[in-house]
Amino acid sequence: MANSLEKFRIFIANAYRDSASGEAFQSYNPFTGEPWAEIPKCDARDVDAAVEAAHCALYNGPWGRMTPTQRGALMRKLGDLITRDADKLAATEVRDNGKLLTEVKAQVGYLPQWLYFYGGLADKINGSVIPIDKNEMFSYTLREPVGVVAAIVPWNSPLMLMMWKLAPALAAGCTMVIKPSEFTSASMLQLAALFAEAGFPDGVVNVVTGFGGDVGDALTSHPLVAKVAFTGGEIAGRKIIENSAASFKRLTLELGGKSAQIVFPDAELDAAVVGGISGIFAASGQTCIAGSRLLVHESIYQQYTEKFVAMARQARMGDPMDLSTQVGPVTTQPQYERILTHIDNARSDGARCMLGGEPAKRPECGTGWFIEPTVFADVDASMRIARHEVFGPVVAIIPFKDDEEAYRIANDTDYGLAAGVWTTSIKRATVAPKRLRAGTVWVNTYRAASFLAPFGGVKMSGFGRENGVEAIDQYLETKCVWLSYGSDTRNPFVMG
Ligand code: NAD
Repeated sequence: MANSLEKFRIFIANAYRDSASGEAFQSYNPFTGEPWAEIPKCDARDVDAAVEAAHCALYNGPWGRMTPTQRGALMRKLGDLITRDADKLAATEVRDNGKLLTEVKAQVGYLPQWLYFYGGLADKINGSVIPIDKNEMFSYTLREPVGVVAAIVPWNSPLMLMMWKLAPALAAGCTMVIKPSEFTSASMLQLAALFAEAGFPDGVVNVVTGFGGDVGDALTSHPLVAKVAFTGGEIAGRKIIENSAASFKRLTLELGGKSAQIVFPDAELDAAVVGGISGIFAASGQTCIAGSRLLVHESIYQQYTEKFVAMARQARMGDPMDLSTQVGPVTTQPQYERILTHIDNARSDGARCMLGGEPAKRPECGTGWFIEPTVFADVDASMRIARHEVFGPVVAIIPFKDDEEAYRIANDTDYGLAAGVWTTSIKRATVAPKRLRAGTVWVNTYRAASFLAPFGGVKMSGFGRENGVEAIDQYLETKCVWLSYGSDTRNPFVMG
């Protein structure tokens, strides 16, 4: 078996190489549960090499001397190359993380838009002239790259969540070391060749692979890393804050969620059912924005729940490479086991299982890590299934009596990443986004994302925003310059 594994190599200073230790680990195909690829197991030596390459590219190499317009042109070239290779990249990612090819093709096909948008912004980052209140003094600001950025990415949407960091960071003039998840490194390693082909100078973007406890720690505590942009879970997020404290790194943390979708009594029911399904069963529920709590008004609760279960029952499970599949496997075996534990907890807390609640044994699911779309009804907001992030195809349907109760339940969570609202009332459509404590609120839609729309969380869902014009600020520092054109003979012992 080991001989048939596809071998990948890390990428430092525009060249592929093995890890310093020469060791590797296996990556699994979630559809078969079998290993298919071998990924270098990096350690602190590889991190040092990658960070030094990135540091050198920024402060001693051609990248730091390029004009923003030149940087933007390289980014656009990279976007064109990704378009050329999109099918290949999408197929690799599906093999590695088991997400549906239909969704991954759309995501990878969309990636160039980040490079075109932020590439276009690169030469529109202005400092300002300050109308300074001192005679014969000229003062202005420069907006400079924050430095070397470490991008740490999870397994659920590896290339997309990487791109949300890469594009604004490059536009700001930063250099990067990217660490994909140990479960899904292959598509990132494949894409790395395109940095060299696009003409990026050596060291601008580097990719190291391995586990959080060694390579992740080494990277996020490295003194030459100025900023960490992280998407992942709260345990790693806390560790990254600790690691970064020694050198006061800048941080962006995109963490988990327990997002509520509220179905008001005036909602268009069929649309709300489709929206509910898309919120929790798309990507097998493995999205940080999963609408894992469905709050449904008691007057339509029974009707909604019946329609919802009927539609979920129809979902086609199977090979994620098959374009007609609607629900694929979950990405990792530990995640598969964790989801089953959440299901057991829901049952023992008294939630009523209306659908699924077990591993999928359908023939089309083969030997993969599949879990049946699972619906718990009559959930009480205090149950574990209503409070803990499952990150799987499991929804908790909770009834509510009036709007106040809906907002109270929706906000009664440690998280604050996203929320959905289904209503035909203009008043509710306007009031609900204000009342819900979340970084994104969708009204009569769910799970829409764009390079133009800021994304991020409040409370334990993290801080900082990705996407949109303002994301670039997360990769910039402001420098203030004072220039005297008089003869400055002030009292040297008094501040001017
Ligand atoms: P994870 O936190 O286990 O891993 C994420 C990444 O962090 C991986 O690359 C991992 O190797 C790395 N990591 C782990 N420990 C580290 C350490 N000590 N130092 C540095 N890096 C370390 O998360 P996961 O299981 O891969 O992803 C699932 C989680 O991600 C869920 O909680 C989900 O909600 C969250 N998520 C959030 C968003 C968002 O945008 N808010 C998007 C997707 C996923």
